[in-house]
Amino acid sequence: MDKTLRAIGLALLYVLASPVYLVVFIRKAMKFSQGAALMRKGYIDCPHCSEMNALDLLATCPKCRTTEYGNRLRCTACGEQSRSFDCDYCGVTIKVL
Ligand SMILES: [Zn+2]
Ligand SMILES: [Zn+2]
Repeated sequence: MDKTLRAIGLALLYVLASPVYLVVFIRKAMKFSQGAALMRKGYIDCPHCSEMNALDLLATCPKCRTTEYGNRLRCTACGEQSRSFDCDYCGVTIKVL
């Protein structure tokens, strides 16, 4: 009897907690799709000076210092993925993901 009660309580807890998990999941999914849309666009507006920063250009990897043409957030030499970069115009750090 006691065991059944505990099982019901646990099940109830999961049911109550599931909307929270769902919201967290949706938020994560939205953030991810926003990032993916930005990548497709190829430009990011600076939140400070609102200049357009191109994502595909000659960039130097902060980790292995490889300079190459391509997506500035991804390095093909060492596989480094950045979540932010400095604005080309005002130098403010722009968070992408
Ligand atoms: Zn690198
Ligand atoms: Zn800027």
